[in-house]
Amino acid sequence: MKNPLMLMIPGPTPVPEQVLFASAKLPISHRSQAFRDLMADITANLKWLHQTQNDVLILASSGTGAMEAGIINFLSPGDRVLVGCNGKFGDRWAHVCEQFGLITSRITVPWGKPLDPEVFRQHLEADQDKQIKAVIVTHSETSTGILNDLETISRHIKAHGQALSIIDAVTSLGICPVPVDEWGLDVVVSASQKGYRMPPGLGFVCVSPQAWQAYEMARFPRFYLDLGKCRTDAATHTTPFTPPVNLFFALQVSLAMMKAEGLSSLFAHQQRLMQATRAAVRALELPLFVPDDSVASPAVTGIAPDRVAPETLRFKLQQQYGVVIAAGQDHMRGKLVRIGHLGYVCDRNILTTIAALEAALSTLDYPCQSGAGIQAAHRIFNGC
Ligand SMILES: *Cc1c(COP(=O)(O)O)cnc(C)c1O
Repeated sequence: MKNPLMLMIPGPTPVPEQVLFASAKLPISHRSQAFRDLMADITANLKWLHQTQNDVLILASSGTGAMEAGIINFLSPGDRVLVGCNGKFGDRWAHVCEQFGLITSRITVPWGKPLDPEVFRQHLEADQDKQIKAVIVTHSETSTGILNDLETISRHIKAHGQALSIIDAVTSLGICPVPVDEWGLDVVVSASQKGYRMPPGLGFVCVSPQAWQAYEMARFPRFYLDLGKCRTDAATHTTPFTPPVNLFFALQVSLAMMKAEGLSSLFAHQQRLMQATRAAVRALELPLFVPDDSVASPAVTGIAPDRVAPETLRFKLQQQYGVVIAAGQDHMRGKLVRIGHLGYVCDRNILTTIAALEAALSTLDYPCQSGAGIQAAHRIFNGC
């Protein structure tokens, strides 16, 4: 028998059956009352998830499409931006900025280390003539498993007074608190296949009133990703172009399920999954790529195995047990494996992954105490 694959990667993620079934319906017209009702419900729940009164707009795109929309709608060629880079996604933001001809200053930190809010403060305070138009921060850096201190950095951005905050919340929204209004975040980007418990295909951009002011001045050409068009049509609960209506059916159900659970319960669940994974990895004496618990992302855990080849371990897990974990990205390929624990993941997924990990390690002659990982995870799950 061929193993059914269990996705333990940071997107796409496991999806509830109810969400998939919801999408298996006949498409409806996006100019119908049924669609307007659907979109009104979705929009209200998106605001709930973002803890905001701001607009939350929906794009038919992956997260990167939403990133691009977050740049071209609010900036102009030659504008100066500050980008936090401590992993693949911070780097991607900087690349997008450069492609569009923005003057891009990176605040670079080695992969696996958190961004230092103090450095952001210094750059922003030194900018007396307000040349910095936006500061871009990846909240949860999926490539390494770091959770950056967005709350503190966004305070420094607010103190600057002019710069917009453009935030990648792709693996933090729905996973840990991203209180958009409380932290005063201007542009917040996310994607359906991460914290939303949804298949891939939708991107989201949350836009503050200050960002809408910047939109009026922004001079990049834009058409499909023009968020102003989205806002105009969202006012009558529709979209400018044909949306993937079946994904909207799915989104309605996933948001309703999340809302029924409640934000604090969602976040607490993610904390447990992270803690159990980290406890198990430690018990197996595998090196955590981010050893400091206080900066660990609740979405993904990076492991940098030293006594076993990461890619061999990853293939073994997939081939023998059907457990799919992620590789390192860019220069960390072949040096890192990453366990995603976001989306519709429960204790069982973690226990299965750890058990498969232990089994794979033992067949690879890695010296560890069999059962130690499971026991450690079990202790977290049972609160002892
Ligand atoms: C997944 C992800 C993205 C978007 O990637 P897509 O493949 O374009 O959906 C952006 N930022 C982070 C931090 C991510 O994890």
